[in-house]
Amino acid sequence: MLASNLQVKLPIHETFQCTVQGEGYWTGTLVDFIRLAGCPVRCPWCDTGYANGGKDLPSVPQSIAQLLAQLQSPRVVITGGEPFIHPNLPKLVAALLQADKQVSIETSGAYWQDVSPQAWITLSPKEHINPQYPVQEHFWKKANEIKLVVSTGEEVDFYKKYFIEGIKVPVFLQPEWESRERAIPIILELLKQHPSYRLSLQTHKFIGVQ
Ligand code: SF4
Repeated sequence: MLASNLQVKLPIHETFQCTVQGEGYWTGTLVDFIRLAGCPVRCPWCDTGYANGGKDLPSVPQSIAQLLAQLQSPRVVITGGEPFIHPNLPKLVAALLQADKQVSIETSGAYWQDVSPQAWITLSPKEHINPQYPVQEHFWKKANEIKLVVSTGEEVDFYKKYFIEGIKVPVFLQPEWESRERAIPIILELLKQHPSYRLSLQTHKFIGVQ
């Protein structure tokens, strides 16, 4: 890692440490979060504040050195917003790996930056919400898990063309939080049709942590 890369800055929405990953494959593990600012996709139910593009949300430049100094947990989750809109994402990932951190990145898959293959990629596609932001096809091969937010149940059909037979990575169906009372029974039915898929709940919200 070049020392000069430590001075590279990224727009940060917020960071927080020593919480648990609430969703998907790493549910229940101790993690730090780095939330990068900005996402153009505008999902109407976005629970990170980007439903309207996030114009009112904080965005403070922080250097990679500043971000490294805050770390406390073995795994760091880089999320947003949409992390892959930031050209300096690969440098951040490289610095975290060099600091012996495990790295997860959560993405809609609409953008790509050439990050280390050691990073765990959680693909949560939003093409069905906003077709202007289709998933870049190679994400279906690069992703380590797929997390599909389910509101109506039609989402699974929408992505059938991508969920190729024999997909190797775990596929999680996660109820959209505001629709969870309706979506959980829908997911239970979908699991009968797709027994290799799994239910993911936003456990951090059930236990009241960030
Ligand atoms: S892609 Fe993610 S961060 Fe962006 S608006 Fe949709 S839910 Fe929010």
